[in-house]
Amino acid sequence: MEQKMAESSLKYSELFGLKFVTATTREILENLRGRGARKGLSMYTPNLEFFSIARKNPGFGSILERADILVPDGHGILLLSRALGIPIENKIEGASLLMEYAVEGELKVFLFGGKPGVAERAARQLESTGVEIAGTCDGYEKDEGKIIRMIKESHADIVVVALGCPKQETWIDSHAKELGCICIGCGGFLDVVAGDVKRAPAAMRDRGLEWLYRLAKQPFRWRRILPLPFLLLKMVSIGIARGPKAKEYIGL
Ligand code: UDP
Repeated sequence: MEQKMAESSLKYSELFGLKFVTATTREILENLRGRGARKGLSMYTPNLEFFSIARKNPGFGSILERADILVPDGHGILLLSRALGIPIENKIEGASLLMEYAVEGELKVFLFGGKPGVAERAARQLESTGVEIAGTCDGYEKDEGKIIRMIKESHADIVVVALGCPKQETWIDSHAKELGCICIGCGGFLDVVAGDVKRAPAAMRDRGLEWLYRLAKQPFRWRRILPLPFLLLKMVSIGIARGPKAKEYIGL
């Protein structure tokens, strides 16, 4: 199956079957402008953990393969690409990039996800930076029809979906086309914007040590974080043995 990204003018690099955008933030913004806002676009931000989830859940691998835009998130992807000689140089903060796009293009943003109250507080923060908020909904609302109605009636152009991985990508895969919006999956973005979760200091982020900071602040995450260095080593050795485009991690 050909990934749609190949049809666009964005540069990308293939790593374990996924085509990551390697363009600059500016080039991505221009590409989005060229596509027009209301087309139903899926944008995900894979880190190494996505591969581990996809290995256990092949349906998730197909969802990632069907994505319109995959932006590299997390230092692990950069380390993996460097070790295998694949040109992916920069992490891209996908949600921040879309907020910039929204302000520039005067587009309306709907925030979906997080515990009750988080999206509203994130909305107030984003509004103070010039983002026009179309509406909000917490990530524990059970009535799927109600969520879709709220988004449609809000006339949003962009939907930020922060339900954690793989729930958010699965949701976007089912609804982006029907909504006709740009949908981005972005985990804890709303928690950070609302001020409930602090990001690591820039010096730690630049050195790829955000995982250490998260482990210190949220020790309950150890089960998710500690296997990642081993996953990285395993993927490097598979990539060297079978080539960096080996698809086994996305179950294809
Ligand atoms: N969440 C949600 N609905 C759910 C499960 C999770 O809205 O059914 C939210 C949760 O409150 C948190 C976010 O999804 O705000 C997940 O954040 P995390 O940093 O764990 O994201 P991940 O690392 O999984 O992408």
